[in-house]
Amino acid sequence: MIREAMFYEKHEDYLRCHLCPHSCKIKEGKSGKCLVRTNNKGILRTINYGKVTAAGLDPIEKKPLYNFHPGKNILSVGTFGCNFTCDFCQNYTIAHYERDGRFISPEDLALSCINADNNIGIAFTYNEPTIWYEYIYDTAKYLKKNYPDFKIVLVTNGFIKEGPLKELLPYIDAMNIDLKAFNNKYYKEICGGSLDPVLNTIKMASSKCHVEITSLLVNGLNDSKEEVSKIASFIGEIDKDIPLHLSRYFPRYKMDRPATNIDIMRDRQKTAKKYLNKVYLGNV
Ligand code: SF4
Repeated sequence: MIREAMFYEKHEDYLRCHLCPHSCKIKEGKSGKCLVRTNNKGILRTINYGKVTAAGLDPIEKKPLYNFHPGKNILSVGTFGCNFTCDFCQNYTIAHYERDGRFISPEDLALSCINADNNIGIAFTYNEPTIWYEYIYDTAKYLKKNYPDFKIVLVTNGFIKEGPLKELLPYIDAMNIDLKAFNNKYYKEICGGSLDPVLNTIKMASSKCHVEITSLLVNGLNDSKEEVSKIASFIGEIDKDIPLHLSRYFPRYKMDRPATNIDIMRDRQKTAKKYLNKVYLGNV
């Protein structure tokens, strides 16, 4: 099923997508940077709507969310496409290539969710969920209307425009948001994005739902004391109780730097704890 995108405007010979801050200008027959929004005869269409390429019943801690219904499972699903191009991408086969997926309607996904063992809801994860926006929106609305006790979780890079985020947030219960670094150069050169929209997402989301943050510390790139202090103090100014997960980098995809030193990880945890009450290490 191909669904019309929700956030775009028409121009004489192109469409402008307004879902994420890339604001892609998309000509007839072409796609935006995320690969999943295509100009088809003057209509912006989402080619990954309902196409599930990965699914599993995961412990909620694996998202990672450590302070949101611990001990429970969450039905986790993903599709293909991403609006970032991180050199260290851990899921590049689904992030950057169009894949065949099994179509699951929002109603069927909701049904799988209620039948799963010890399950609290649905997590949209594995690839970047915000570029699956319409499917998440339809599913979340349906789930909240018909099974209001179930939760909706996003594991996201936070690179979304304010308007779409505002419209989605009433249906979201928890988010793990990546804060990949605290400098725009890193976002631009390593991830193909920018910092400010992510900071804005963190601020907006944390006033509406449960939020935890993940920062992947990459050896020699963003693992300095200064960088971690900036990340932690920004979060601490919003709320000292927001959990921060400092995740250890391992070589992946296009990046072959050695893994981040464990002693540095431990030291940065101490640094972050000056600003925050809950700082966890991941991948160590
Ligand atoms: S969602 Fe995709 S098409 Fe739209 S602006 Fe972002 S990268 Fe471009």
